[in-house]
Amino acid sequence: MNAIDEITDSFSRLPGIGKKSAGRIAAFLLKADPAFMQRFANQIASLQERIHPCSICGAWTEADPCPICQDAGRDRTTICVVEQPQDVTIIDSCHDYKGLFHVLGGVIAPLEGVSPDSLRIKELLERVEKEQIQEVILAMNPNVEGDTTALYIQSLLKSNPCKVTRLASGLPVGGDLEYIDRLTLARSFMGRSGF
Ligand SMILES: [Zn+2]
Repeated sequence: MNAIDEITDSFSRLPGIGKKSAGRIAAFLLKADPAFMQRFANQIASLQERIHPCSICGAWTEADPCPICQDAGRDRTTICVVEQPQDVTIIDSCHDYKGLFHVLGGVIAPLEGVSPDSLRIKELLERVEKEQIQEVILAMNPNVEGDTTALYIQSLLKSNPCKVTRLASGLPVGGDLEYIDRLTLARSFMGRSGF
């Protein structure tokens, strides 16, 4: 294998990139500006070192706590619960939501060996209690695992006086937060409903 084959093989392992696209990226890089190449290489090499999960909400961050958890201007009585750190970025960029976040790190999926204990559910309950949260918005993806997880968390919060809501069903069923346009996301926030 030469260097082009090797890097093509590496790119083809990235999500959403097939062999053909991987070859095109390799060809692009071969002719790219050396300064860009250096910066890009450094970014990849230092990514895992620079980014860590926030010790409070679990979002990806360089500073701990993350800028959202540190932001005094946010509504600190509302927590939006999401599956993955990248969901925080998506929801935060739609600007209609000004509260806090909590990343679960996945959804309950017994067949894949994901039990409630392996998610950050205990941490969520502690935050709701300690930070006197008034509304918990469950923003899991609208599929079987997401619904199961939402119902499970809702049952755990029954004894807490906080309001528990789920994003409105304007979200496409079986869809993924990552692929929802901002308008749909904003509408689903406005139309969120209680259990
Ligand atoms: Zn945080």
